[in-house]
Amino acid sequence: MQRFQYFIDGEFLDGEGLFQSIDPATGDVWAEMPEAREIDVDRAVTAAEKALYEGPWAKMTATQRGKLLYKLADLVAANAQKLAELETRDTGKVIRETSAQIAYVADYYRYYAGIADKIEGSYLPIDKPDMDVWLRREPVGVVAMVVPWNSQLFLSAVKIGPALAAGCTMVVKASEDGPAPLLEFARLVHEAGFPAGVINIITGFGPSCGATLGRHPKVAHIAFTGGPETARHVVRNSAENLASTSLELGGKSPFIVFADADLESAANAQVAGIFAATGQSCVAGSRLIVEASIKDSFLSILKRKAEAIRIGSPLDMETEVGPLATKRQQGHVAALVEKSIQSGARLVTGGQRPDGAGYYFPPTILDCDGVNSPSLAEEFFGPVLSVVSFETEAEALRLANDTRYGLASGVFTQNLTRAHRLMKGIRAGVVWVNTYRAVSPIAPFGGFGLSGHGREGGLAAALDYTRTKTIWLRTSDDPIPDPFIMR
Ligand code: NAD
Repeated sequence: MQRFQYFIDGEFLDGEGLFQSIDPATGDVWAEMPEAREIDVDRAVTAAEKALYEGPWAKMTATQRGKLLYKLADLVAANAQKLAELETRDTGKVIRETSAQIAYVADYYRYYAGIADKIEGSYLPIDKPDMDVWLRREPVGVVAMVVPWNSQLFLSAVKIGPALAAGCTMVVKASEDGPAPLLEFARLVHEAGFPAGVINIITGFGPSCGATLGRHPKVAHIAFTGGPETARHVVRNSAENLASTSLELGGKSPFIVFADADLESAANAQVAGIFAATGQSCVAGSRLIVEASIKDSFLSILKRKAEAIRIGSPLDMETEVGPLATKRQQGHVAALVEKSIQSGARLVTGGQRPDGAGYYFPPTILDCDGVNSPSLAEEFFGPVLSVVSFETEAEALRLANDTRYGLASGVFTQNLTRAHRLMKGIRAGVVWVNTYRAVSPIAPFGGFGLSGHGREGGLAAALDYTRTKTIWLRTSDDPIPDPFIMR
């Protein structure tokens, strides 16, 4: 059985505790993971604070930081296949996706390597003739990063990259479900030559390890990705240390298809939007809102495509849909499908948990027209699409915004003016028009409402890991006049 260690202060260590990791394709234990408890969390945060203020990292120029980031990017690219295999083994995400995604993760590090020495301060045109005033941008401090099981290397790269560019140090908490790829990534951090304590990588359970980390007095910012319920705990914990937070949460994203759309292309995008990654994607286009006149024809294309999806071992390059990451998640998806059917939703395809080993669930479509189905409101984080239809553009927009989430959305139409109206009207952080599930290090990403706040990607994300310091310098040699008047 493979055994992993965590990475604190430049050293690979066994945890205070130990827990087992399960291969979701078989349900068998395949590895042992180090469980960080309070003492390990404290050691990691203390190391990060020391590295921030005292170690070689504190004295490095931004260009030197950028060079380390370039090295890390090259190492991620060179080791992408190995990391992908680990992620697939530990989370069940199919290898054809993990290998492509991790190769692209290297580009995120490259992007932020280039940003490191472009974060500039400013000189203020101050309203006093004998003063020079500047703003310096300094790292925000020690950052706690907490990520969920899906795409851990990607979801951590969008935090680690900009935080390093800004000069921060950090403790990354991998999810207790599928932490192997992030723990292995620590070896690349070490090989790249980052000074000890700059990047610490641990794993452990949410209420113990995650909560201890989030409320640690030395943590200045918490970058969290996960569900809204956990985010509430994170925010409550931040009341202890008054750390700032950025929250990337779930979604119930609308996918609107008008009758004039290229239906074959829209159906492919819908398959990508809901069945890729077995639906365990925060941007899953899980609510299909389709124009009534094409509902039947579009659903029959979708049904055909869903039933042709190759389900199998996630390590097989041919497999398109693998298992869900955990038994808990499989149970959640099955229960919510059941509840939705009981509320009147009609099953178009899928819906039954298969017999046999592994946490599989088939691509499923629920017709929810005229039904108050919970599947329209609750996040599955699984391969289940809920369908409603509309007659008018206004109705489509109303249905799209009928959610407290606001992460992503898709609009499929050939009508340019309508596309513009919808991209303004939809309340979500991302609108994809005639495409879906596209991302880039250059494009900011994040949600509205229950989907969180803060943006990952782009230059703005790096600035979010800085804080400004205002420097006043008096240029006059005359003595300071009347000390009782504020100048
Ligand atoms: P989760 O919220 O249960 O767990 C996320 C992380 O939080 C894990 O590392 C967990 O250990 C930790 N955690 C749990 N309790 C904690 C606590 N009290 N204090 C601090 N940390 C704690 O999420 P999940 O079920 O693993 O992942 C699925 C969720 O993540 C979905 O809602 C999904 O939409 C969301 N997600 C969002 C994005 C995005 O970018 N917006 C991306 C991927 C996933």
